[in-house]
Amino acid sequence: MEHPRILFWYRKDLRVNDNQALISAFALSKAITPIYIFDETYPYDFNSKSRSWFLSESLKELNEQWEKAGSRLLIEKGSPIHLIPFIAKKINARYIFWNKAIEPYEIQRDEKIQSDLKNSNIEIIDLWDHLLINPAEISTGSKTPYTVYGPFFRKFKDQLDKINFEKDKDFRFEKLKDLDDELIKSELVTKSKTIFDEFLKNINFSGMGICPCRPGEIGAEKLLERFSSSNKITSYHTSRDFPSEDGTSYLSGSLRFGTISIRSLWKKTLLLNLINEDTKKIQSIETWQKELAWREFYHHCLFHYPELEKGPYRDKWNNFAWNDNQEWYNRWSEGQTGIPIIDASMRQLNQSGWMHNRCRMIVASFLVKDLICNWKLGEKKFMELLVDGDLAANNGGWQWSASSGMDPKPLRIFNPHTQTKKFDPLCKYIKFWIPELSGINNSEIINGDISKLEKINYPSPIVSHNVQQRIFKTLYANI
Ligand SMILES: Cc1cc2nc3c(=O)[nH]c(=O)nc-3n(C[C@H](O)[C@H](O)[C@H](O)COP(=O)(O)OP(=O)(O)OC[C@H]3O[C@@H](n4cnc5c(N)ncnc54)[C@H](O)[C@@H]3O)c2cc1C
Repeated sequence: MEHPRILFWYRKDLRVNDNQALISAFALSKAITPIYIFDETYPYDFNSKSRSWFLSESLKELNEQWEKAGSRLLIEKGSPIHLIPFIAKKINARYIFWNKAIEPYEIQRDEKIQSDLKNSNIEIIDLWDHLLINPAEISTGSKTPYTVYGPFFRKFKDQLDKINFEKDKDFRFEKLKDLDDELIKSELVTKSKTIFDEFLKNINFSGMGICPCRPGEIGAEKLLERFSSSNKITSYHTSRDFPSEDGTSYLSGSLRFGTISIRSLWKKTLLLNLINEDTKKIQSIETWQKELAWREFYHHCLFHYPELEKGPYRDKWNNFAWNDNQEWYNRWSEGQTGIPIIDASMRQLNQSGWMHNRCRMIVASFLVKDLICNWKLGEKKFMELLVDGDLAANNGGWQWSASSGMDPKPLRIFNPHTQTKKFDPLCKYIKFWIPELSGINNSEIINGDISKLEKINYPSPIVSHNVQQRIFKTLYANI
């Protein structure tokens, strides 16, 4: 058969450009039926308003791309374990293509589909796309997975230097004209529309105007262009830690949903470093590469240690006597602790679905080490609210902040006042997210000693950092 039918299953790769499985599918046939499934058994997405918004906008754009190519994106809802084989048979697919995933649930789901279709005449072809390097292909000298970022990064960089990223540059998303006629008229398309309309009806995210992440492939390309063509990427190393500055790429949502390829970002950094002669600028681009490598590292860890999803990497943390004070936790969640940098950060998260990385580290340390709440509670809250909420990066970030993960540093405690002094010295970020504090003197905000509290309707601090860190250290000594 000249053009065997292919079912192309979109998951976290919602784009047509530089998509490894899609490139291979096109090389085999022009009869491609793309599908996206609202996976009702996936444990993390359904209560997230920000991610539902990002997903819906990205799917709309993806569908438009496929319509231009003479087809359309099928949408289904339910369990992929049943739906993928069912649809593949219904459209007489000879092949199913997808890009590999790394989360424990996703791996088990995909293996089940593979085993169910083993004796059928449908072949599954799965490729690596979500990461720069397949986590199974990067290991220490003694062939074990990496557990420490530093040596991981050196090996990762070494392996990447050997890859020729130019080889897939010729791919063009092509017209599928006429090959898809039957499908367009079919009941599957009508059903897709009903499912998607229903999904759209339930989108209820009010932060779309202020969320800095942009959905869709076009949105991602614009973010990359904005970040890399101005001096942002070349001043990243100095501005990335200041939450009031517009100093980072905001590409985390795009990477989470795969609306941009990680290879295209890496290629961009290589190209920019090639044309840059200023060592400071080169260093800045390398700092950004190191952040992309953190993403890769946390995925590598989750792939090799799936138990990270369930609890601490270091067992002793299972015996820690958490306080888990519900009232404190609620105040933290709502940005009402009376500690300005914590409240500004949590309000940014609640309102925009995104939070600056420095602030993520500060609020995580505060929840765990000042409020003595189990980090799993914070991890869950972040997963609910973050537009880029991603199991590997979020779990990695929380375990790093809680000191329960792989990071060799035994106990890192952030002082929220010192952090404010260093990273928001003019209190611009704080005053933007907490307008009640706009008339307050910066030094009062930094020291956490605000005199006119009753007048400005802002709470007094729920805890004292100095007291709480002493309690925390005593509890820590017990484990
Ligand atoms: C407690 C905690 C929870 C986090 N949860 C998530 C999450 O759910 N999803 C998520 O994508 N990131 C998470 N991060 C990492 C980081 O905060 C965000 O990736 C970053 O703030 C996104 O902004 P940006 O796209 O402008 O990043 P940039 O600074 O422009 O960095 C570029 C990309 O590199 C990756 N990256 C950067 N820093 C990190 C990091 N420390 N760890 C892993 N990847 C990184 C992201 O994909 C990011 O988009 C978390 C960090 C902490 C401390």
